[in-house]
Amino acid sequence: MKVEDKVMDLAKRRGFIWGPSPNIYQGGLKGFYDWGPLGKLLKNKVENVLRKGFSGFSFWEVECPTIMPKEVWQASGHLEGFSDPVSKCLGCKSYFRVDNTINEKFPDLDVEGLNNEKLKEILDKKKIKCPSCKGELGTVESFDLMMKTKIGIDQEAYLRPETATTTYLLYPEYYRFFRTKLPFGVFQIGKAYRNEISPRQGVFRTREFTQAEAQLFILKDQEKKFEKINDYAEEILPLVKHNSKAIKKVKLKDVVKQKYMKKEAYSYMVYVAYKLIRDMGFDEKKIRIRQHTPEKLAHYADDAWDIEVNTDRYGWFELCGVHDRTDYDLKRHSKYSKTKMEVAGEVPRILEIAFGLERTTYSLLENSLVNDKERDWLEFDKGMAPIDVAIFPLMKKEGMPELAKEIFAELDNEFICNYDDSGSIGKRYRRMDEIGTSFCITVDHDSVKEGDVTLREISTMTQVRVKKTELKEIIRDLLYGDLTFEKIK
Ligand SMILES: [Zn+2]
Repeated sequence: MKVEDKVMDLAKRRGFIWGPSPNIYQGGLKGFYDWGPLGKLLKNKVENVLRKGFSGFSFWEVECPTIMPKEVWQASGHLEGFSDPVSKCLGCKSYFRVDNTINEKFPDLDVEGLNNEKLKEILDKKKIKCPSCKGELGTVESFDLMMKTKIGIDQEAYLRPETATTTYLLYPEYYRFFRTKLPFGVFQIGKAYRNEISPRQGVFRTREFTQAEAQLFILKDQEKKFEKINDYAEEILPLVKHNSKAIKKVKLKDVVKQKYMKKEAYSYMVYVAYKLIRDMGFDEKKIRIRQHTPEKLAHYADDAWDIEVNTDRYGWFELCGVHDRTDYDLKRHSKYSKTKMEVAGEVPRILEIAFGLERTTYSLLENSLVNDKERDWLEFDKGMAPIDVAIFPLMKKEGMPELAKEIFAELDNEFICNYDDSGSIGKRYRRMDEIGTSFCITVDHDSVKEGDVTLREISTMTQVRVKKTELKEIIRDLLYGDLTFEKIK
């Protein structure tokens, strides 16, 4: 089995990812997935890294509605320019997204930004047929990705295709909240919706998804020199310029000096995004930061770099985009809403970090799969496993379950814990190893008499005896501090 198939097999079998959803009705809808109990725990951990991380870099969290009236999307530009090229098969009448259909056959052909006529020419020239029935593909048309709905009886509205726009709209409130001092940062974690045509990349491209997007509102003069980078000056970024394939390791303090990026504030945002991906425990060698080509930049954008992770399933894949959006957004919303947003004659600019949570969680799952000849299991970075601690009574008698339950209750208010008393102890260890549970605690005869338990670490499979009264502190230090298993022994 290929690595990516092993991951999906384990994900389905052990309750990480289920779907398409709702599965019991005709096998579900394309582009919708369920996160099972373990998947949800893992996704929460990813979300927590971002929430804690953004807060640590002084961004403040907000939450906005997911539905907004039509006017908002006219102002944002989504209603006129947010569409994909599609073609209908003249045989089976299915619709296909044309750029993807071309790239499935010819991965090296760069079709991004081409107009519908040009795309149709390529379909004809390369003799590309319907991927399901080999029928002839019809004309290429633009298909709007916005999900439409109604408010009340007749007010047109749309589900947001990104969290970002809804975050921008609070600018006048932020300005007061931050006591009229720029720059300031906010972030939002929440659902967004895109009516993708025939999504075929599993949880990497879904019609409903979770985003974590952070914005720095800043003035033109503040962007060039940005003091905060001095705190991280020696940190190294693996950069790939748009006209190159090689990764260059560049210190943050040199990124602007060596002309990779134009503004220190923007390089800081790229560093923040990269740091958070590292904090999740991705293998350093599998991360790169790649610049968009100038042709692919939105007309208003000044620069854009993606944090990409090398996946077995799709190769290098974007988990996060960092965008220099200039003053485009606030200018548009100021004009359309007739709200003044100028500070000393200038509309503030937005530097933005945009994470996709589902693709990040899946990639982390893939990144964490390890195997030997006999079996596959998951191994996460410290504190990132869905379950932190599993607690087992060796036998269901002689006071062992009572003591194990007592320990479970004590630890469960601080860590994600699981109590398991079914099957042999070996089987219970294997079940927990497979899903990457960081530590297992076994309560045996001696535990009842002496008050100590066996603590086992998944990555090394080593065991130590620990006083039950010291468990909480030891586990806390193992998960979040500098303590290692070696030191306990
Ligand atoms: Zn067809």
